[in-house]
Amino acid sequence: MRLFYAALALEANTFLPVPTSYQAFLDKLYYPPGRHPEEAGHQTGAIAAARATAKRSGFELIEGSCYAAQPGGAASRAAYERMRDEILGQLKAALPVDGAVFNLHGAMVADGYDDCEGDFLERVRALVGPKAVIGVELDPHCHLTIKRCNAADVIVLFKEYPHTDFAERGEEMIDLTLRTIRHQIKPVKSVFDCRVIQSFPTSIQPMRGLVDKIMALEGKNRVLSVSIAHCFYYGDAPECGARILVLTDDAKPHGDKLAEEIGRELIALREQAAPPEYSVDGALDFALAHPGGPIVIADTTDNAGGGAPSDNTTVVHRLLARGIKSAAVAPIWDPIAVRMAFDAGEGAKLPFRFGGKIAKSSGPPVDADVEVIRCVPNAFQSFSGATVGIGDAASIRMNGVEAVLISTRAQGMGTDLFSNLGIDPKQRKILVVKSNQHFYASFSQIAAQIIYAEGDGPLPRDYKRLPWRKVQRPIWPLDTVTEPRLII
Ligand SMILES: [Zn+2]
Repeated sequence: MRLFYAALALEANTFLPVPTSYQAFLDKLYYPPGRHPEEAGHQTGAIAAARATAKRSGFELIEGSCYAAQPGGAASRAAYERMRDEILGQLKAALPVDGAVFNLHGAMVADGYDDCEGDFLERVRALVGPKAVIGVELDPHCHLTIKRCNAADVIVLFKEYPHTDFAERGEEMIDLTLRTIRHQIKPVKSVFDCRVIQSFPTSIQPMRGLVDKIMALEGKNRVLSVSIAHCFYYGDAPECGARILVLTDDAKPHGDKLAEEIGRELIALREQAAPPEYSVDGALDFALAHPGGPIVIADTTDNAGGGAPSDNTTVVHRLLARGIKSAAVAPIWDPIAVRMAFDAGEGAKLPFRFGGKIAKSSGPPVDADVEVIRCVPNAFQSFSGATVGIGDAASIRMNGVEAVLISTRAQGMGTDLFSNLGIDPKQRKILVVKSNQHFYASFSQIAAQIIYAEGDGPLPRDYKRLPWRKVQRPIWPLDTVTEPRLII
């Protein structure tokens, strides 16, 4: 048996004016064929399972290229076509194959392509032929389009947000793909379109209960897999929106019923799904009034995980203006400031400017007399067992407020984002993390309380404020009356 693997991932925030270039993929994650490290990464969750199963089952695994960029603006046409054609060329050279499996984030939009993964998978199908089995692992923040559902046989999404289960879902996708190749199962899809745009963190109720429920359904009554596509709420593509995917073993009527039932439950909880958000000052007031620490404040509107620059300075300005001490903020993307901190050296005290560079929504830069605490070349943070590079990084201190400056854009994910830079996160009263939800798994281990603040970064929680043009209407919350329906 011969199986091909490759990865191509971008979560494209179509509302940002900055295009994602080929270089952006090289900067974040690029492994040529066979060069991916042993451990699965967030965007390459199936590779470890594919390798382990190949070793165990004796089939031949042909590895293609793996590409992933930090979420950002839509990909340039040249970047997408270059990577697509490179992987398709590798697949063509590997033919014939019994199966082709991929990690595709699922919300890639490129200049001229609203559904990159649909385009990619249709081309894969044309190459491998109708009998080969195509398996895909997607991020729940994907656009689960009809085109890609029709092109692939097996689709499995991460269930958790934060996405701590990328490796397990990768194993499941590989397992279902192999069983399909061996004619042990016949996966059939049912897809229900909820007509909803919303963020659905799974670490809190009511979404936690729904994820537990769908997990309990799997493996019984011919249900192979149940996935909830949350949607990517900053991706203006025609098929943006929450969808339910049920894979049954040739039991479509049952799958249809389940998909609709779960979809209706998701619709019913949509208004309670996202946690309440404080204003920036309201969040600081809450933290100061709350005994103990650290109080972790998520600065959600400047989350690089949703494509934001991560250099908005509002929280730092408010901390300094209010004279609040024992507070630390991370990460602030400012490669030039990092370079200046490196040039000054650890322990240096100097007048310093940082943040507030990329867009109007970044706010004004911070000017302060700072002390450089720590300079770390090629620094990293951890996320669910994987290592996430943040480039050269430096930490600085000013009037009791500390900041972690990074040179490779990333959202805050692990508490070691602070500790690796010489700041003990457990000893601070307030930790501000630029992230929407991925920080939760790690920071909940040390937080006295976690709260969310809506600042003035480019990612508003009120999706009605965004200039949607392409998304199919009606869809909630842009419209009040919608028509949820089974679409496959
Ligand atoms: Zn995601």
